[in-house]
Amino acid sequence: MAKEELLQKFKAKFGPETGKVMEDAVAFATAAHAGQKRESGEPYIIHPIAVAEYLLDMGMDSATVIAGVLHDTVEDVEGVTVEVISKRFSPEVAHLVDGVSKLTRSGEKEYVTKKQAHNENLAKLFLAIADDVRVVIIKLADRLHNMHTLEYCTREKQIRKAKETLEVYTPLAHRFGIGILRSELEDLSFKYLLPEEYERIRSLVSRQQEERLKLLGTAMERMRELMKINGIEAELSGRPKHLYSTYRKMQRNNVSIGEIYDLIAIRVIVNTVNDCYAALGIIHAEWKPLPGRFKDYVAMPKPNLYRSLHTTLMNKNGIPFEVQIRTHEMHETAEYGVAAHWMYKEGRTVQTEMDKRTAWLRQVVEAKESSENNSEFAENVVKDYLGEYVYVLTPKGEIIDLPIGSTPLDFAYRIHTNVGHHTQHARVNGNMVRLDYKLKTNDVVEIITSNSQPGPSRDWLNIVKTQSAKNRIKQWFKKENREENIQKGREMLEDSAKRQALDLATLLKPEFYNDILKRLTLPSLEELYSAIGYGGVSSGQVLHKLVEAKRKADKLEQMQERLQTAAAAPAEPTRPAHKPIHSTSGVIVAGDPGMAVHFSSCCNPLPGDKIVGYVTRGRGVSIHRADCRNVGRLSQEPDRLLPVEWAMSAKEEFSATVFIHVVDRTGSLLEISRLLTTMNIYISDMKAQTSSDGMATMLITFVVSDAEQLDHIMANLRKLKSVIEVRRVTGR
Ligand code: MN
Repeated sequence: MAKEELLQKFKAKFGPETGKVMEDAVAFATAAHAGQKRESGEPYIIHPIAVAEYLLDMGMDSATVIAGVLHDTVEDVEGVTVEVISKRFSPEVAHLVDGVSKLTRSGEKEYVTKKQAHNENLAKLFLAIADDVRVVIIKLADRLHNMHTLEYCTREKQIRKAKETLEVYTPLAHRFGIGILRSELEDLSFKYLLPEEYERIRSLVSRQQEERLKLLGTAMERMRELMKINGIEAELSGRPKHLYSTYRKMQRNNVSIGEIYDLIAIRVIVNTVNDCYAALGIIHAEWKPLPGRFKDYVAMPKPNLYRSLHTTLMNKNGIPFEVQIRTHEMHETAEYGVAAHWMYKEGRTVQTEMDKRTAWLRQVVEAKESSENNSEFAENVVKDYLGEYVYVLTPKGEIIDLPIGSTPLDFAYRIHTNVGHHTQHARVNGNMVRLDYKLKTNDVVEIITSNSQPGPSRDWLNIVKTQSAKNRIKQWFKKENREENIQKGREMLEDSAKRQALDLATLLKPEFYNDILKRLTLPSLEELYSAIGYGGVSSGQVLHKLVEAKRKADKLEQMQERLQTAAAAPAEPTRPAHKPIHSTSGVIVAGDPGMAVHFSSCCNPLPGDKIVGYVTRGRGVSIHRADCRNVGRLSQEPDRLLPVEWAMSAKEEFSATVFIHVVDRTGSLLEISRLLTTMNIYISDMKAQTSSDGMATMLITFVVSDAEQLDHIMANLRKLKSVIEVRRVTGR
């Protein structure tokens, strides 16, 4: 049985005394999870046992393996607390178990949304990892077993778990250099998230691999011979690239599988760093290297401390292949990363390496005050540190990684808040660049600061990519310029109102704005102006909320009136309260304000859209969006086109249709309708269609007052996790 095997292996490594503690842990967990079942129907205890086994196989210390056995007891079992674990086992084990446990289940009820609860748990996890990096290894082992047993879960759960794994756990594995866990987790997620693509790549790769292996066989033989002749002890092997990274490479570079040179690489493992370079020289003397493909990660390790020499060679038949040269130690670092620390307790100066690996997370924790709360902190970590990134260099050669799309300003703020605030200009590779320049890997970035630069500019909020830079800029404005912010915010709100021809005086009443203050936890109207001023909230959003509040109040009033008249007179058939209508009064036709107007059904124009009028035969003027396909056709008769414009009155209602592409149907429908409900949007029609790969498309029609509101709704829809694409449907 798996339990006995684990205990034996454990005792063989840690001795009988520690073995007894482990025995107790297994007994404790078995009792605690008694009666609980996995989705597969097996007893729950198989899961913590499997997790502990992974940890043992990775060479982790006894406390981590014991914590692996106990990792789900606090979270899942009533009556088991961190204190209980601490007393029965040790404070160290309890600390690790606490780190991997989610905040208590009952605690979740305090959070408004599932997402917020999820973020709170992530924040707790990140803080726990920064405190003790073994927590991430347990968490990854836990995730690995859950991903291996995912076939028993519902399709919805499979997709959710796979997405979460790719969003949080594989980037964490990568950050901490644990290559083996990263590739396995990525391939498992890939399999569940995009099953058809997965199968396609798998069969493509296996077909290619056979051919490649044959071709590489001869090269490998010759290489082995050369190493022997030159007295270099070397282990050679063929390494297949994992499926998900192959898929990503094909997608990103838009190449076919035949163009991926490192589909299989020859790996040469030698004893010393000198041997690495010697081997490289010997190999380059025999095969022609492809220019621009040599990479020296030995002299310049990746931020996650990955080290290796990479080169691409041409074989006799002109087929390129990749070679990776590294020492045994570099190899362990590449495969086990931070976990290698526990594998070899003696003879290694590992503390500095460990410090380097966790430096990023400690920095993030220190900078936590630039986030408003835990939930925002978690989001910042995910966005700034766990997405895809570029590496750039300081003039001193220090490597900094930043999310793709980052600018010199993000770089400046990453170096130090004050460097960011006083940035005057930036040089990349010796050339002056604009502050919105998009950094590329290997750029050398130099920031020129000046004390005459008083502080950040408001435009920077639109330039920076990282959340942390954004937060620091906002904070500067919040702190330094309160009076100015209030003034500026008031003006911004007035401008927005003017642009939409709204009367701000009728909207800025306590009964309309109190709700907004409450929602944003602001104490006064002044603070609301200030928040608009420093960019904490957009004037458009505030205005939209005000209009909505007023509309609601007006409706209520009308309803009461109607109720009163209804009481007096027999009920008349009324049209449903929210039925979308096409107003014909909302448009002014140049030259003839009295002309009959109707809206074209081909493009459904909304107030705020650029529009033109077209004189029809006998039906007055039809209004189209200026970019409507039909206008191009109609403009062949230019004298029938009329300039028209919106006569803004916020009370009109229009219907708009959007196309939404989402990941899975059950969860996302709920998410979308919940969003629209909280935004007070009335849905008049909804069609959904699923496809076999777990994707779905929807057409949703709802009522809006203008194009700006529609843009706002679409922007919010795009923020939803399950949503891939949102676009306005135009034309039929
Ligand atoms: Mn678990």
